[in-house]
Amino acid sequence: MRIRVSYGTAVHLGLTRGRLIVPPTTAYLMTYHDGRCRNDCAFCPQARSSRAGLERLSRVTWPVFELEEVVGRLASERGKVVRVCLQTVDHNGLLEEVFEILEALSRANLPVSLSITPVGRAELVELKSAGVDYVGIGLDVASERLYPEIKRSAYSWDDMWRFLRDVVDVFGRRRGVVHLIVGLGETDRELYETMRAVYRAGGDVSLFAFTPIRGTALEGEKPPDLGRYRKIQALNFLLRLRNGVPIEGLEFDGRGNLRTGLEELVRMGVGREAFLTRGCPGCNRPYYNERPGSEPYNYPSLDLIGSGIPKRR
Ligand code: SF4
Repeated sequence: MRIRVSYGTAVHLGLTRGRLIVPPTTAYLMTYHDGRCRNDCAFCPQARSSRAGLERLSRVTWPVFELEEVVGRLASERGKVVRVCLQTVDHNGLLEEVFEILEALSRANLPVSLSITPVGRAELVELKSAGVDYVGIGLDVASERLYPEIKRSAYSWDDMWRFLRDVVDVFGRRRGVVHLIVGLGETDRELYETMRAVYRAGGDVSLFAFTPIRGTALEGEKPPDLGRYRKIQALNFLLRLRNGVPIEGLEFDGRGNLRTGLEELVRMGVGREAFLTRGCPGCNRPYYNERPGSEPYNYPSLDLIGSGIPKRR
């Protein structure tokens, strides 16, 4: 059986030669599927109508390896990563494939995060018994208004929220990690309300920056402004602390743009940790959305942030 491994993970585990500026603390794997995903998300290189190479997800390349070889490396290079994150490409027969991979991964004895499109409660219970302890939920679009036009998926907005509730029931609070992409046309207010709803439902939020990929429907769009992204990270940090209770004193304009500045959000209690990659324990996802050398949207470590708050606006 074959599996895709993110380039950074492959170098870190010695599966391929290369140079890493920041090594990943989680091993990022993706199911190998000889075809496109059955969904058609407008930002995704794996989407049904995308013309991008299948070895891409976001700006990362994912070379293919034999699963046995990867599991062997995870076992022999023990300590290099603290978790495995398995991303999946949706197709018929996906669940059987996932269980086969989980069985092989059990030999590496690492906790597994699984990002998957909605499955039933019974399947979630089985996945938990097979070694999964966190579930990544690709809601991606923070706006219910834009969701149908961008996600073009077999799963509706309501299906995704039902899935989050089931994941929280089966795995526990904060173990359903909702992925949200900043920069898909949503307003700041929509992001704020969606993040609040995730925390109120018992989930957690992992933020991504929209990354235009050639060959996808959104290839001509721009990544989000870094100053805006910092403010959304700050909101996420505060909402997480408050379990989704509203933040007093925020100001939005009539178009849903957040008027409150980053300095003010920092005064409300935002620390440097707000700008780290957030999600499952041990996930640092270096250079997932940004080129090495540019200021990262999500910092993989506190050392790289330095002593101040990055990009104050
Ligand atoms: S937060 Fe990180 S480890 Fe968790 S599912 Fe998302 S990418 Fe994977």
